Amino acid sequence: MNIKENAADIQRKVEAASEQSGRSASDVTVIAVTKYVSVERAHQAVEAGITHLGENRPEGLIEKQTHLSNGVTWHFIGSLQSKKVKRVIDGVDVLHSLDRLSLAKEIQKRSERVVPCFIQVNVSGEESKQGLSLDEVHEFVNELEAYDRIKVIGLMTMAPYIDDEDELRSCFRRLRLLRDEIQDLGLSHAPCTELSMGMSNDYTIAIEEGATHIRIGTSLVGNEQKE
Ligand SMILES: *Cc1c(COP(=O)(O)O)cnc(C)c1O
Repeated sequence: MNIKENAADIQRKVEAASEQSGRSASDVTVIAVTKYVSVERAHQAVEAGITHLGENRPEGLIEKQTHLSNGVTWHFIGSLQSKKVKRVIDGVDVLHSLDRLSLAKEIQKRSERVVPCFIQVNVSGEESKQGLSLDEVHEFVNELEAYDRIKVIGLMTMAPYIDDEDELRSCFRRLRLLRDEIQDLGLSHAPCTELSMGMSNDYTIAIEEGATHIRIGTSLVGNEQKE
């Protein structure tokens, strides 16, 4: 596993996909998802120039934060139980998984600052996936106005685990169109300019469809649980 080479390879692909769609690669933030790997590998990602790290469990986040603090932006990308908000929220720079009012309420109660959040959307409607359905998002955004510790910076989704490019593209596109609708409302609590979408197997398509944040685990830092 040569993380420097992986990072360079991903950077090239990000540039190509951005160019392909008339966007700038500098508009795409690469988040290294370190949930399957050791602190050592997360450290190597930082050495390779990746300063955005993502974890999906409170324990994993806290472990990585204990060892790597300098200059890292921390993204929480997994479903967050309300009872764990208190433990992690001060250390979460960006939350990608806001999916219910009870979580917003808990953040409002526990956070001392405004937390930039993505609303997680289950575009594909798979039962195994977290997130609101597309048609629930507008109402949810309206309800969030009452919580001044939440700022809706964008929408997040996980595409189905498939190879069908057209279907992946359509999933990302639907999220982008919804993002555009909300952005156009000009709400101060929900500027909604960002799109968190794209993982190891589909990030180039996600970028072509407008992703501003891609979340890459396996093809960047590997998966030590499978190696
Ligand atoms: C694990 C995970 C990723 C990264 O997945 P890879 O396929 O290993 O790149 C991205 N987003 C979320 C929400 C995840 O849980």
